[in-house]
Amino acid sequence: MTESTREPSTTSTTSRPRSEASHRRALGSLVGGVNSPVRAFGAVGGIPVAVDRAEGPRIRDVDGNWYVDYVGSWGPAILGHAHPDVVAAVRAAAGDGFTFGAPCDHETDLAELILSALPGNDRIRFVSSGTESCMSVIRLARAATGRERVIKFAGNYHGHSDAMLVEAGSGAVTHGVPNSPGVVPDVARATMTCPFNDADSVRRTMERNGDSVAAVLVEPVAGNMGLVPPEPGFLESLREICDEHGSLLVFDEVMTGFRVGWGGHQRTCGVLPDLTCLGKVVGGGLPAAAYVGPASLMDQVSPAGPVYQAGTLSGNPIAMVAGLETLRHCEREGFYERLGGLTRRLAVGLRKSAMDRGVPLQTTSVGGMMGIAFSERPIRDFDDARNADHERYAEFFHAMLDRGFWLPPSGYEAWFVSSAHGEDHIDRTIEAAASAMEDLS
Ligand SMILES: *Cc1c(COP(=O)(O)O)cnc(C)c1O
Repeated sequence: MTESTREPSTTSTTSRPRSEASHRRALGSLVGGVNSPVRAFGAVGGIPVAVDRAEGPRIRDVDGNWYVDYVGSWGPAILGHAHPDVVAAVRAAAGDGFTFGAPCDHETDLAELILSALPGNDRIRFVSSGTESCMSVIRLARAATGRERVIKFAGNYHGHSDAMLVEAGSGAVTHGVPNSPGVVPDVARATMTCPFNDADSVRRTMERNGDSVAAVLVEPVAGNMGLVPPEPGFLESLREICDEHGSLLVFDEVMTGFRVGWGGHQRTCGVLPDLTCLGKVVGGGLPAAAYVGPASLMDQVSPAGPVYQAGTLSGNPIAMVAGLETLRHCEREGFYERLGGLTRRLAVGLRKSAMDRGVPLQTTSVGGMMGIAFSERPIRDFDDARNADHERYAEFFHAMLDRGFWLPPSGYEAWFVSSAHGEDHIDRTIEAAASAMEDLS
């Protein structure tokens, strides 16, 4: 999340001289020394660790230290890093040219596989990032309904387009306000924000504004405020409310797509959205994302229809084969059962270690995603996530980094397990966490 955090005082005790030198050099040319803000360690303090290699479940810093990785490049690395079959597919495709700016069969191959996993959807458009996917879906929803407003949920992240960089206005005001300078207030006003897991709030907002709401966007399993599963009935209610008011229901499955199970959360929860955003896993670690839906909606996108959207590198052959090879592995019998089992083992083990030491810790897991929060009570929305002890998370993060475990550098981020992780990695992580928790202040 883009949530600004206090200045934490915690830093690693391990010295990483090459990382420090890398960061100092990067500060001279890259904005803040990074190309995406969370990498700067703002939420946990200390100096970002620079990486020079990643392989399977592990990642290596420029000082030569290896870590067991639970970030997985923020979700795409579901097979672990540099899976030999994906590397081979990418190498072969690269030899034939990086990008054609013309149709190629790799696009249709990946399209057919993705659509076969998402019943009810019959068209796809590939783009290059999740941000682009969410931004394009909003345009399509507005065009298809002839309405302007959208509803999103506090603590859900849909990329950094203007319409989505919005927070709830104060008090009774339902209009959104920009949460970044540079976002046009008129654009922000068209976005309304409700608390996650609170269908009644959506119902009330719709009763007042329903005839102007184009779409309700939701992460069906929230993964950008830790990991917050939907409560029973929440997604079902959203479906009902949208149908009642003629608004479109959009599942942002950029994170959950092919991560929580084959297809996405819609396959397991049984609630079908009108439109779906995908990203992360579908590009296999290369820049690819997509939006999908029924032909009746998707054929309104150009060139089939009038809703404009385009991309120079969209559907480029390298990203398409990386996604295709990755999904072919995910499709194998038992893949998600094993991945979900490993992730659950980690969540349960961490919770037990914490309980044994009197540390209040909440853990959740859905498929290959996990979340932890230092909190007395379960996290059900963004206020709960904010009230968790983020200073303690920062301390825990550094204690784990020093023990060789690479966790997300913010308590607002989900953890990702890959199929390259084994029970031994999980069990060593739980042991290290137990020892790290002994040292927490
Ligand atoms: C990561 C993410 C995005 C944005 O994707 P980018 O590729 O980083 O632009 C959008 N929605 C969700 C749910 C995400 O997790």
